[in-house]
Amino acid sequence: MAYEAVIGLEVHAQLLTRSKIFCGCTTQFGAPPNTQTCPVCLGMPGSLPVLNRKALEYAVKMALATNCRVAAESVFARKNYFYPDLPKGYQISQYELPLAEHGHLDIRVNGAVRRIGITRIHLEEDAGKLIHHEVRPVSFVDFNRAGVPLIEIVSEPDIRTPEEASQYLKAIRDILVYLEICDGNMEEGSLRGDANVSLRPLGTAGLGTRTELKNMNSFRFVKLALEYEIRRQRGLLAAGREIIQETRLWDASQNQTISMRGKEEAHDYRYFPDPDLAPVRIDEQWLEDLRKNLPELPAAKWQRFQDQYGLPEYDAEVLTADKALADYFEGTVKEFPHPKKVSNWIMGEFMRELKETPSLMSSVTFAASGKLLKLVEKGAISATASKGVFVEMVKTGQDPETIIQEKGLAQISDTGALEAAAREILAANPKEVADYKAGKTKVMGFFVGQLMRRTKGQANPQLANEVFKKLLNEI
Ligand code: ADP
Ligand code: MG
Ligand code: ZN
Repeated sequence: MAYEAVIGLEVHAQLLTRSKIFCGCTTQFGAPPNTQTCPVCLGMPGSLPVLNRKALEYAVKMALATNCRVAAESVFARKNYFYPDLPKGYQISQYELPLAEHGHLDIRVNGAVRRIGITRIHLEEDAGKLIHHEVRPVSFVDFNRAGVPLIEIVSEPDIRTPEEASQYLKAIRDILVYLEICDGNMEEGSLRGDANVSLRPLGTAGLGTRTELKNMNSFRFVKLALEYEIRRQRGLLAAGREIIQETRLWDASQNQTISMRGKEEAHDYRYFPDPDLAPVRIDEQWLEDLRKNLPELPAAKWQRFQDQYGLPEYDAEVLTADKALADYFEGTVKEFPHPKKVSNWIMGEFMRELKETPSLMSSVTFAASGKLLKLVEKGAISATASKGVFVEMVKTGQDPETIIQEKGLAQISDTGALEAAAREILAANPKEVADYKAGKTKVMGFFVGQLMRRTKGQANPQLANEVFKKLLNEI
């Protein structure tokens, strides 16, 4: 029988607020254990939580960006369970009345657009962190992370392939980062995606028994884990066996998922409204202001880059994957209005340097980059030499013209200067000259290459071609 996969994602994103969700402790990462705690986030009796307005604002922004309906009133609930990283014995979350529902997100997979429903987005607090001793049977607990604000974004089971799941998660990450409400770092756990997956006979609409996959801290692992799990479930069904509803962990070292806990060990969380927190009422005017002030989102920017600048989909994709990069592109196009040339340059030279010098977007101005491209365009330097100039611009912050003058990199567009060198090259390579004469015009590339080498890339390539042609005709 043919089956199709049914996948739904639950994504947790750490919000970039300065303080925790219900107290004033800092959220800064990397401090010594338990130095960023207070009676509230340690769950001391008698302490009372107060909602961080910024955390609410960030969550609402994400809800608006994913086309959700924001509830006029939502309620915090206690999710009760016992675990040493949870000081109160419950996590403050939202349950029956979440902040936002009924959203959707359009993703592109292999050129087609797929709409993935978003069931809900709610706010909750993070737990602390257990640190297990490597040798001794001892565990430590660090509560610095306890109370850091999270949003959980739950998708409808609308995803059909591991590739779609990975694209959906990427789209979520890009929006969070564009909104500047989460750093999107999966390796460090500020963005975590759990996947629920089941199979059903192709053409049917019901839902099969699912497993939940956790512990995938990269887009690649999400894809690999789902591929493995779909294969595993298909094998069981083909053998006439049943899928057991359970939570499974991705084991990156073994490239497989392993059972963590079954349904019978599932918690009964005994959710109930938290009596310490008032319901969250959203002011309509505030909501409208947030909606109006949303930045242009990745998908809209991607489309605009194609429409406004005539860029291919691929270029638009690369440039808008990072907002700062997109801004740099637009800034440079203002200085040098040839979008495709700017795009080629940014995707090539620029991004190569960016890898080594991440600060270059602030140290090299749009004007300086635009000027460099103009100099190449008018033939003042060769494209080859411009690479060295750009490296120098990144290193010293100097103006391209200054660098060209100081280093003597101006393109040689003087026929006389090139001719002398060209004659020497021809004299030193009689075999290639004979080949050329015998009709192998391809050796022209070799001659020009030699000349480029001698002039350290300064020769005007078109002129070099002409000079060789003329000299070879004379031979
Ligand atoms: P839980 O309460 O266990 O977290 P939810 O009903 O909230 O379960 O669903 C969690 C996620 O699992 C959602 O993204 C949902 O779309 C997805 N999901 C639910 N049922 C299935 C299923 N049978 N197959 C695949 N995904 C599912
Ligand atoms: Mg859930
Ligand atoms: Zn605190």
